[in-house]
Amino acid sequence: MVDMSFPYELLIVDLDGVVWRGECIIDRNIEALRILNDLGIKLVFASNNSSISRRGYAVKLTDILGFQVSVDHVFNSGYLASRWIMDNYGSMRIYPVGEEGLVEELTLMGHRIVDDVWSIEAVVVGLDRNLTYRKLEIAHRAITMNKALFVACNDDHVLPVDEGTIPGAGAIVAFLVKSTGLNPIFTAGKPNRYLADLLLKSVGVAKDRVLVVGDRCDMDAKFALNSGLDSLIVFTGLTKPDTPLTVKPKYAFMDLLEFVEFYL
Ligand SMILES: [Mg+2]
Repeated sequence: MVDMSFPYELLIVDLDGVVWRGECIIDRNIEALRILNDLGIKLVFASNNSSISRRGYAVKLTDILGFQVSVDHVFNSGYLASRWIMDNYGSMRIYPVGEEGLVEELTLMGHRIVDDVWSIEAVVVGLDRNLTYRKLEIAHRAITMNKALFVACNDDHVLPVDEGTIPGAGAIVAFLVKSTGLNPIFTAGKPNRYLADLLLKSVGVAKDRVLVVGDRCDMDAKFALNSGLDSLIVFTGLTKPDTPLTVKPKYAFMDLLEFVEFYL
């Protein structure tokens, strides 16, 4: 049953800064997601964070939200990067600068993980909290000496955590941009519209019935703009009520519950 007063059929919901902030879950947004799920609104989750796999996110979200979230309804930038390489180049020998979740997506997609500079065909860079100079050196040498493709999961400069922020995948990408003098050939996550194109191909929902929900104008509102979708920025993550809105979202609310209650 869809409540006719709620103007959207499908929400593309960001994770960091919307469902949780570091280890801390954001209760009012979660309550709103439960209400929307009960109303029969389709929920798809999209994170630029590649450190957890889609399967890992689906398990975590099902646990936190209290309703079943399937892997098919979760997108992360590691999956998007893996998918883009497969669709454009086929199965490749890949060196990941990233965590377990990225390795899982690359492997599930049918790519091979290698670390010998001369056999690396693509370097895929995501969030890596176990980053070492050695990893950067292998990635740099594969890109400069073996002409490996340089693909970024996302360009987020920071990630919100319980208190403040930590450096994001974009900061690692910036290191390799500086050292190699090259930019990534593709940056998979938001604000690239690639996710929206993939998703809208597979679900039969009109564009004007889709809402992007996130905490960052430069990622979430920009992604919506690039994809021709409406956006809602909530102030539960990086953006605060006094933060200048660099890309104007359609709506800005304190949290998702405040937005949902507006229609109920
Ligand atoms: Mg976010």
